[in-house]
Amino acid sequence: MAAIDDVATPECLTLWRCIGCGAMGNAKECQGTCDFKRDFVVDAASHADLLEFFLSLSDHNEALHLLARDVVAETAAPERFERALAGLRARAKRLLAEALGEEPPQAVPPDERAEIWLCVSCDMVEAPRDCLGICIRRNGDFVRGKDHDALSAQIESARIESRSLAALARQIGWATPRPGQFERTRGALRTMALSLLATA
Ligand SMILES: [Zn+2]
Ligand SMILES: [Zn+2]
Repeated sequence: MAAIDDVATPECLTLWRCIGCGAMGNAKECQGTCDFKRDFVVDAASHADLLEFFLSLSDHNEALHLLARDVVAETAAPERFERALAGLRARAKRLLAEALGEEPPQAVPPDERAEIWLCVSCDMVEAPRDCLGICIRRNGDFVRGKDHDALSAQIESARIESRSLAALARQIGWATPRPGQFERTRGALRTMALSLLATA
């Protein structure tokens, strides 16, 4: 499973931004010698859209994982297997029905990110622009481009994982053993679930 804590709480930069010229900065004042490094930021609202998608996809994957683990752990006696399978089947179908079919929100493309200069010793931020008139500053929250990219990468791998978990859920959801073939069906589903859990 993806390390949710790593991406769920990125460092948030509160910066002012001029609505006219796009100049940015914060209220930090450097005490010593500033060492500015170029960086790129995206607005926190766009990042939050991605994060919301990632968190619900992670929840969904977790429920599918649990289903796979329960398939592996299923040991009902042959005469009770039909009922046990019916329960697993219903869960699989419910999870598939609530699957997030939609595409994830777009990550902010590189050319739409704001360039800033961030001091590595004091966190002072500067992004000077040529202002034509009076700067009108609005405060906003921003997230660094690398955190945004890391989250996009996590979403991509969660989607890949989700597809293989869904493939197993489909097998479970439509498994209908022929009479007397319960052990075979159980064995086949367990093998599939085990190999999936081993790779996930
Ligand atoms: Zn500094
Ligand atoms: Zn301005």
